[in-house]
Amino acid sequence: TSITTNSAVQTAAASSSKMNETLGKPAMIEQNRLCGKQKQAETKTEKDKPIRKHISNCQWQLRSKIQDYRRKIEWKPLSHQDDIVEHLITVAVRKRRLNKSEIAKQEIDIITVPTKNKIIVHEPKNKVDLTKYLENHNFIFDYALNEYCSNEMVYKYTAQPLVKTVFNGGYATCFAYGQTGSGKTYTMSGHFDTPSEQGIYALTANDIFKFAKASKYRHHNFIVSCSFFEIYIKKVFDLLNNKEILKILEDGNQQVQIVGLTEKVVGSVNEVLDLIYQGHEERACGQTSANTQSSRSHAVFQFYLRSQVNPGVVYGKFSLIDLAGNERGADTFSSSKITRLEASEINQSLLSLKECIRALGRKGAHLPFRGSKLTQVLRDSFIRHNSNTCMIAMISPGVGSCENTLNTLRYADRVKELGAGDANNS
Ligand code: ADP
Ligand code: MG
Repeated sequence: TSITTNSAVQTAAASSSKMNETLGKPAMIEQNRLCGKQKQAETKTEKDKPIRKHISNCQWQLRSKIQDYRRKIEWKPLSHQDDIVEHLITVAVRKRRLNKSEIAKQEIDIITVPTKNKIIVHEPKNKVDLTKYLENHNFIFDYALNEYCSNEMVYKYTAQPLVKTVFNGGYATCFAYGQTGSGKTYTMSGHFDTPSEQGIYALTANDIFKFAKASKYRHHNFIVSCSFFEIYIKKVFDLLNNKEILKILEDGNQQVQIVGLTEKVVGSVNEVLDLIYQGHEERACGQTSANTQSSRSHAVFQFYLRSQVNPGVVYGKFSLIDLAGNERGADTFSSSKITRLEASEINQSLLSLKECIRALGRKGAHLPFRGSKLTQVLRDSFIRHNSNTCMIAMISPGVGSCENTLNTLRYADRVKELGAGDANNS
């Protein structure tokens, strides 16, 4: 019976939509009322098998449309044989696979990664007569990393080429950007339950120690040290010192300093892993619920290189940043609630970040680093003559994340515009 009710409402909604043009506003109101009723009917009978079958049918249609699309295209995904192209700014996108809860919700994977640099988002849309169609959005980046890529593969095409920058006396930055749950922490910190799946922090540490021992750099006798802090609503917390709140100072020369930030000298990858673990434990505790604060804050892990001869001066620096989730406040009602203050703070810092990266691509451009604490503490990484940046935009594959995914890709695309220009000029 529920199916009949539901389809009756649907037919009514469809016919009222056809009447819209002639009847104007009252018809619209009526349509909205009917649509509301339809939604109500759907929620009420969610546990009813026939309805579930109806929903599955829609999903089945969507799935087969995407499969049709995938059958017709040519596949040549990124492989280890592909060259690493060096850019001033590199933008890569990483798609993870559907997770357990997405599979349980029968979510459909709407992301196709056909080649080494292309991402397609199949957005489901409804025509006025309620028939469904796909809008396929194409995006091109420096690298498109599909769901079969390991952290090591991601590292190879993003952060690894920047280790050289640091050893040549430059400042490098690597950002993980994306909505909460898209895989930023998994990529940067690795998976603690799977030691073989090390993250970019540990993989970078590994290369830094390798480089330091190499004949080309050995004579510097480099001292390697690390810091790990979190930025949450304009405040800096030291993750290697009981989350102590630290002050940011800017001197007359616009040099920015985090006063009292813990910096630990490290001699092996294991020591770095200990710091990552320690920082994570710190990150997870606080007044607010653990997951809330960690997904609303930026975590910054830094490696400093100092030569034994002149340890007072930083020779090179590598900053690796696990950014706050970029999801819009409006669509997070299902997960932990984001406060307006948190949302505006995150929004502001991600906007400033984009502008600062773009300024890096245009030498001599105004650097709006005072726009946020994040860009303020990273200021020196944007102004050094030999700075390199990479951004890894993480995306969730499910249809439920479609809007956030499109937002993430559009943001990454704007960062990339100049990256591409830069590549063409060189
Ligand atoms: P974020 O930091 O962006 O909020 P997480 O890194 O915490 O997201 O990832 C959310 C969940 O998905 C975690 O359980 C994580 O282990 C899992 N996950 C993320 N990326 C991958 C991946 N590439 N492969 C396997 N599991 C992943
Ligand atoms: Mg995270």
